[in-house]
Amino acid sequence: MARECGGCTLCCKLMVIPELAKPKDVWCQHCAIGEGCNIYDQRPGSCRDFNCAWLMSEGLPDHWYPARSKMVLANELDGRRIAVHVDLSRPDAWRQAPFYDELKQLTAGGARQVVIYVGARAIALLPDREIDLGECAETDRIVTYQRVGPNGAEWHAEKVGKDDPRFAN
Ligand code: SF4
Ligand code: SF4
Repeated sequence: MARECGGCTLCCKLMVIPELAKPKDVWCQHCAIGEGCNIYDQRPGSCRDFNCAWLMSEGLPDHWYPARSKMVLANELDGRRIAVHVDLSRPDAWRQAPFYDELKQLTAGGARQVVIYVGARAIALLPDREIDLGECAETDRIVTYQRVGPNGAEWHAEKVGKDDPRFAN
């Protein structure tokens, strides 16, 4: 991994940590904000396993550095989906330049699914439009697919239960 977290600890706020019953969007009690983890050697598996997409993908430009962009990008579904977790201190960060255009480029031709999370609200960014899916419970999953509408093929997204076969983990 060429990149390092440096002074970023944003995933310790934005992500759910089941082992600690830590909900989304609140700082972990063990986080030294902007410095690191106070229980690094004993941190839970979820923390050990998580590397954000900025850390993993050198193709993502530096301006996506989470501490500055206020967004944590996570690869899901074997890289077919990018989940964009937006810090509530800047809920419209994803709509700002250059981020919005770059997210749209990721969806071009359906190459990648992009789902934006702002608090509990989820928005599916699709090649031809966006769909506000409203509040999602932690057990909800999001599926995106193409279907034929009155004007031809169009993209669609919906919330399903975590055991729905259309959501392939
Ligand atoms: S969001 Fe990414 S860069 Fe920031 S602390 Fe987490 S893994 Fe490191
Ligand atoms: S246990 Fe450590 S690494 Fe995990 S969320 Fe808390 S501060 Fe971050």
